[in-house]
Amino acid sequence: MNNYDCIVVGGGPAGLSAALVLARARREVLVVDGNRPRNRATYMSHGFITRDGTPPMTLRELGREDLATYPNVHFQWGEVQRITGVDGAFTASIKGVRGGPSGEVQARKVLLATGVLETLPQVPDLISYYGSTIFSCVHCDGWERREQSLVVIGENPELVNTAKRASQWADHEVVLTNGSGIIEAHQAEVLGRQGIEVDDTPIAALHGDGSRLESVELADGRVLPATGGFVQPEWSLPQVVADLVPTAGDLGGVKTDEYGRSGVDGVYAAGDVRGITPSQLIIAAGEGARAGIGLNNDLIFATFDAPGR
Ligand SMILES: Cc1cc2nc3c(=O)[nH]c(=O)nc-3n(C[C@H](O)[C@H](O)[C@H](O)COP(=O)(O)OP(=O)(O)OC[C@H]3O[C@@H](n4cnc5c(N)ncnc54)[C@H](O)[C@@H]3O)c2cc1C
Repeated sequence: MNNYDCIVVGGGPAGLSAALVLARARREVLVVDGNRPRNRATYMSHGFITRDGTPPMTLRELGREDLATYPNVHFQWGEVQRITGVDGAFTASIKGVRGGPSGEVQARKVLLATGVLETLPQVPDLISYYGSTIFSCVHCDGWERREQSLVVIGENPELVNTAKRASQWADHEVVLTNGSGIIEAHQAEVLGRQGIEVDDTPIAALHGDGSRLESVELADGRVLPATGGFVQPEWSLPQVVADLVPTAGDLGGVKTDEYGRSGVDGVYAAGDVRGITPSQLIIAAGEGARAGIGLNNDLIFATFDAPGR
């Protein structure tokens, strides 16, 4: 089989949830996943009701197990590199990963559930602590950092808002711009009124055991005690998304209607790829279900509109 009702690009909570709706709607579905989830850095996912504390990869495995009971859903490890064509007749080029096959498939519809790509500030060893004691989502990982001395690291304008949010959990908070000076004086004053310090000194090193943060060393030699924190990453879209929905980059994600329609006929989107805030597993799964319903409705209604019927 290489001609599907829908190809779902991405097998995270958004893609798997969309596929489940489409499976139960008797659609022939192919889910292609490159196995690079954004939350792969962490050991536990929080806030997904009935699955609070489940490892990210286990959550996905459980999703794939649900889908495996439907013979009309096919799962494949691979990167979708290019999608061409129009509504009703798309062609996707796939490069296999983890032993999955490479090749081309046809599909009537495309559902983008790729998530986003993430770039962290250039701070030595930040990657070691990311997902263990330093995180990007306060509502996902704030609880475990409650009443601690936290740092909030970033170089882009959203840093000030992340700093405000983190205050709900921090006992003591220092915002580190890593030399970027991105927090303006009036913003620093507002933060300062709540006891939050802002420091523009570049970060020289993170100290700890490689997963548990203990302190942050600044370029001027000062060492700030900190047991964890948050970071403000930069996010970008996978190339296949930018190619298929050219406006998405400028709009901060693929903007859709409530049924996941992207504005490009036959192309739907769900999850983080629609724009990163708010971003949670359960929100992505919910959006996947909505887009699956929208896509299936469009296929149903098109049969009534077709000429000669
Ligand atoms: C460190 C960290 C911790 C987090 N902790 C939590 C938490 O505790 N609770 C919570 O609710 N949320 C958490 N999040 C947020 C959560 O991970 C995301 O909101 C959620 O994963 C978004 O789901 P998604 O399906 O949209 O995208 P993803 O889960 O990122 O999945 C997208 C999938 O698409 C694949 N893909 C991308 N491009 C292609 C392509 N061209 N072809 C094929 N496949 C492709 C990727 O490989 C990936 O597997 C965390 C995020 C991070 C970074």
